[in-house]
Amino acid sequence: MDFKKRTAWKSILKLIEKNVTNNQFNTWFSNISVNNLTKSSVKIEVPNLFVKECLTSNYTELIKSSIYEVCKIKPKINFICDNKKTRNLIKHNYFDDCISNVNKNYTFENFIVGQCNRLANAAAKSVIESPGYMYNPLFIYGSTGIGKTHLLQSIYISFLKNNSNGKIIYLTCEDLINILVNTLQNNDLSNFRDRLRNIDVLLIDDIHFLSKSEQLKEEFFHTFNALYNSQKQIVLTSDRQPDKIKNVEERLISRFNWGLKCKLDQPDIETSLAIIEKKSSLMGIKLPLDVKQLIAQNVTSNVREIESTLIKVKEKALINKNNINLELAKNTLYEHLNKNIEISIDKIVQVTSKQFNLNITKLLSKNRTKSITLPRQIAMYLTRKLTKLSFNEIGCYFGGRDHSTVMYAYEKIKKANNESKNTNSILNSLENQLKRV
Ligand code: ADP
Ligand code: MG
Repeated sequence: MDFKKRTAWKSILKLIEKNVTNNQFNTWFSNISVNNLTKSSVKIEVPNLFVKECLTSNYTELIKSSIYEVCKIKPKINFICDNKKTRNLIKHNYFDDCISNVNKNYTFENFIVGQCNRLANAAAKSVIESPGYMYNPLFIYGSTGIGKTHLLQSIYISFLKNNSNGKIIYLTCEDLINILVNTLQNNDLSNFRDRLRNIDVLLIDDIHFLSKSEQLKEEFFHTFNALYNSQKQIVLTSDRQPDKIKNVEERLISRFNWGLKCKLDQPDIETSLAIIEKKSSLMGIKLPLDVKQLIAQNVTSNVREIESTLIKVKEKALINKNNINLELAKNTLYEHLNKNIEISIDKIVQVTSKQFNLNITKLLSKNRTKSITLPRQIAMYLTRKLTKLSFNEIGCYFGGRDHSTVMYAYEKIKKANNESKNTNSILNSLENQLKRV
């Protein structure tokens, strides 16, 4: 291939790299090369059939769009398997590289139990007492950042504490896919099978990623059966319940349903407070009660978000050489959360009407009574300030008013905000409510 095409391929790979995770890039793209790139077709050499299958089903569109972006051509993509490359790879025990990813802080002792996770926590503990007997498989599911990985790794740590010679494997599903790819490259499938089946407990994190690999689906089905039939414990986590996992055949889904399914929910305020207590002490920071409450009330989406808020609060206190107090926490919280918050005009209208005890229809009407005009102007001002909408668009939303009316309202309230303490405090209170998650 000539120099120009080689450079183009490099740029295409760079673009692909930006759109996938490091792990994905290393697994699927680091061993491929292109030996012909023309307007009508591109030949991409891949190390084995498995990589070919995965690239074809999951990455063809990304490859096509990246080629188009760089070269403005839409060639047909052909993956070609180059067997010579496969033979030269060294044998390697891939399991040992992956298994180390267990966080020593993810223990049962550090896991705060509340209404949201009581069942899952109890089930995880009972798995350690009698692996393979009580709940098999144990299937833990729930949205992101609420403790699935923590709980799974707690099982790992606790099991090894009780059985120092016990055989347990913890892997993310993506690691498992990588291991399988490498195993296949080395023609080492029997080693893979031996390692996975000759254990007491198998923990697989984020099993929903199984849908990414046909080969793993097949392998995992047999691994599951082998372990289950010899009463070995299987614990799986997922971001959804088994029936909602897409592109995985019924025979596996039904097996995921055989044991006990536990859902992890978002933490309620009391659990959040206890988590904040625990995490802040692990981080070595002291928080006044009102700061803890502020965080617990405002960061409600998941525990990971609580943690990153604590880190930000700590950083801010360090930078300002300040103690952590309510004011500092408020500032941090709003700066931090603002990034993720999209404030909608609907929400502004809703919150403003509530504050002034008006119904929304009145606020949006043509009624010119002062008790309605002022809240309406405030809502217009906040919309202009907190959203990207133009005066014109805001006018349309507020019953088809002219943009000059909105501009007038904006200037008027802006002035009042500077001149009147009362208006300023109303506006602050409204903004705070709007910025809450
Ligand atoms: P998931 O796997 O569900 O996406 P993680 O297990 O990675 O979430 O949890 C995200 C972070 O929140 C981790 O640092 C974890 O320690 C923490 N965490 C989640 N739930 C709890 C809990 N109940 N008690 C203490 N920490 C928790
Ligand atoms: Mg996780």
